[in-house]
Amino acid sequence: MAEGWDERTDVVIVGFGAAGACAAIEAAEAGADVLVLERFGGGGATAVSGGVVYAGGGTDVQRAAGVEDTPEAMYDYLSQEVGDAVSPATLRRFCTGSAEQIAWLAERGVPFEGSLCPYKTSYPTNRHYLYYSGSEISSSDRAKPAPRGHRTRGKGTSGAVLFARLAATARARGVRVRTQTSASRLVTGPDGQVTGVECRTLTGAPWWVRTAHRVLHRLSVKPGLYLPPLSRALRRPVTRLEARYGRRLLVAAPGGVVLAAGGFVTNRRLVREHAPAYRIGLPLGTTGDDGTGIRLGTDLGAATGKLGQVSLWRFLTPPAAMLHGVLVDRDGRRVCDEARYGAAIGDAVLHRAGGQAWLLVDRAVLAEARRQVRGQTLWFQRIQVRSLLSHDRVSAPTIAGVAARAGVDAEALLATVAAHNAAAEAGEPDPAGKPAEFVRALTEAPYSLIDCSVRPRLAQPAPMLTLGGLLVDEETGEVRRGDGTSLPGLYAAGRTAVGICSNSYVSGLSIADCVFSGRRAGRHAATRTSLWKVTG
Ligand SMILES: Cc1cc2nc3c(=O)[nH]c(=O)nc-3n(C[C@H](O)[C@H](O)[C@H](O)COP(=O)(O)OP(=O)(O)OC[C@H]3O[C@@H](n4cnc5c(N)ncnc54)[C@H](O)[C@@H]3O)c2cc1C
Repeated sequence: MAEGWDERTDVVIVGFGAAGACAAIEAAEAGADVLVLERFGGGGATAVSGGVVYAGGGTDVQRAAGVEDTPEAMYDYLSQEVGDAVSPATLRRFCTGSAEQIAWLAERGVPFEGSLCPYKTSYPTNRHYLYYSGSEISSSDRAKPAPRGHRTRGKGTSGAVLFARLAATARARGVRVRTQTSASRLVTGPDGQVTGVECRTLTGAPWWVRTAHRVLHRLSVKPGLYLPPLSRALRRPVTRLEARYGRRLLVAAPGGVVLAAGGFVTNRRLVREHAPAYRIGLPLGTTGDDGTGIRLGTDLGAATGKLGQVSLWRFLTPPAAMLHGVLVDRDGRRVCDEARYGAAIGDAVLHRAGGQAWLLVDRAVLAEARRQVRGQTLWFQRIQVRSLLSHDRVSAPTIAGVAARAGVDAEALLATVAAHNAAAEAGEPDPAGKPAEFVRALTEAPYSLIDCSVRPRLAQPAPMLTLGGLLVDEETGEVRRGDGTSLPGLYAAGRTAVGICSNSYVSGLSIADCVFSGRRAGRHAATRTSLWKVTG
């Protein structure tokens, strides 16, 4: 063992969420000795997520549900959705390999099910595990729509099942996981190559320190995820325990280091600096999403990209009937096609409507929505929908009357509704591009305007996650410097890196990218390890 190193392995993975677990499995299966350093207990945002993986091109799950899809159709849609987030060649590789990616996950214990959700929703109930999780049905004719949201089978938000299965597989492949251990600095050799990691570990700290660290962190994740001030308050003692009782540990990793430590959504200073418009969103992440993974790379001169890109969600569904409503701003103008994914709606409300928007529905749509609540929602959605349909709604016998009550321009609203109703009568997409199947004339009094504004509210939060990170070589996953060259021995994956979803997120695309980029980094680090073993 070289002088100074406390421990030696082939490959170190920083962070044990979806990206870290997939990198670890892939590297271990290729023969590398793998050590994961995890600041808490593992799981990160992945374990509290919905567990939806975006996949298509004819997966086994799609075929079981009788869904036809091709890699070309998936590529056509995603190229419209994600633009230049990655090169066309990388996006094509992602789509071509998508069916294999689902099979890879399934072989490693992640359960899926070909039960197709018959209505449009932001997250299906426990009866359905395949659904339209993006804006496929609203995209141009070029892209043949197909349901590609593969929700991990499991009750409630099923990210916990997805992570548990990946974690168990990693351990079964011999991956060692050092929990309560936080990477703080990368170590480089004389040639600039990354050779190891310096970290602080609570291994060996008094039992009560480790217990307090674990319990406080768990509470900061749940219920803290939905109560940001509580989460922030709990983070302070957690950080103090780490600083006071953490012991320095130097780990050698001649094969490489994979940074898979999440994004920076819970770091308010970084969000203010890179994406100031998003201060009002609900950070969807854990204490680990403080930007440390990105900082470890930039300390060595790594380049970053898309740090200003944030996905902020304003879901109108479930219930599905809400799609028949018309979303307007304070001036009574249409905001966007309501059938688009919640992130596209959130983006339009925030940037086009100045954060304030209302959904106009008539008596028939409201009644249908109310009938659907029970069958189409999980408990956490039910709380939000009930508040939306009661506290956040004003109504009146006329459109002009309801506009006056909400403070919306009545004349413009009447014109917007007239154009929408004309499209409904003609059986055509409406002026916002909403597909004809969802366009229904709003003619039955009383009318309601439902407040769908984006602002910090307990019952109607606007969840958000950061999409940017370290720039990587899209063939290998190696981190890039500003001049485009690779930092030898350093990889990044998941939300620590720029990836498929870094311009625009639809449900499942972040975890799908974590699997894709994590596997890529793990595979390459293992190859590098083999070369290093041969050449010394
Ligand atoms: C409520 C919710 C629902 C969501 N639903 C979905 C969904 O259904 N589909 C989807 O695609 N996306 C979803 N997302 C987003 C998605 O979960 C995340 O973007 C994704 O899981 C990130 O994975 P990751 O591996 O990059 O990071 P994480 O899963 O966050 O893992 C990073 C790990 O790194 C650790 N870490 C951080 N810093 C250090 C350090 N210095 N040293 C050691 N370890 C460190 C953290 O503790 C953490 O365990 C959701 C997010 C939330 C919060």
